[in-house]
Amino acid sequence: MASLRQIHSNLCFTASSAGCAGEGDALVTAESGLAVSVRTADCLPVLLADTRHRAVAAIHAGWRGSASAIVVAALRRMQNEFGTAPGDVFAAIGPGIGVCCYFVGEDVARKFGHDRAGCIDLAGANRAQLVDAGVPAAHIDVLGLCTQCDPARFHSFRRDKEAAGRMISFIRVAEKTPV
Ligand SMILES: [Zn+2]
Repeated sequence: MASLRQIHSNLCFTASSAGCAGEGDALVTAESGLAVSVRTADCLPVLLADTRHRAVAAIHAGWRGSASAIVVAALRRMQNEFGTAPGDVFAAIGPGIGVCCYFVGEDVARKFGHDRAGCIDLAGANRAQLVDAGVPAAHIDVLGLCTQCDPARFHSFRRDKEAAGRMISFIRVAEKTPV
């Protein structure tokens, strides 16, 4: 499994081997058998798969990454590295803090189109960025579960502070089975 030292950026790396690929927040690969992963606890994990070119991405999208369109940065890197067309991409947006709980101040809210402090919809923002970049809406699965609301299933940094654990989301291209 390849991973990152996550820094709430929109930096994207191409993984070619297991271990830490660097400081950034998205990893892409077309190496079969190599999983790319991100760790989250309220921030969103987003996984992408280009089924035509057999390439994948794992993305850590908190408010900073979402405000700087890290999902689009990952998609562009897949286009450049593997020839990915957005229309061939399937996306999974995993558990993260929901609009029910994610209250932010005015400075952050403004980055998501609001004019005052309030709750923002990180999953919706990432979904909209993917659709704007050409990923078919029918290819995007939004889990829609809030990490802060569901202590039985999810870690949440806002809920548990320094005691919060992390969840790992990963995706890989399957090794082709010999026929
Ligand atoms: Zn909630």
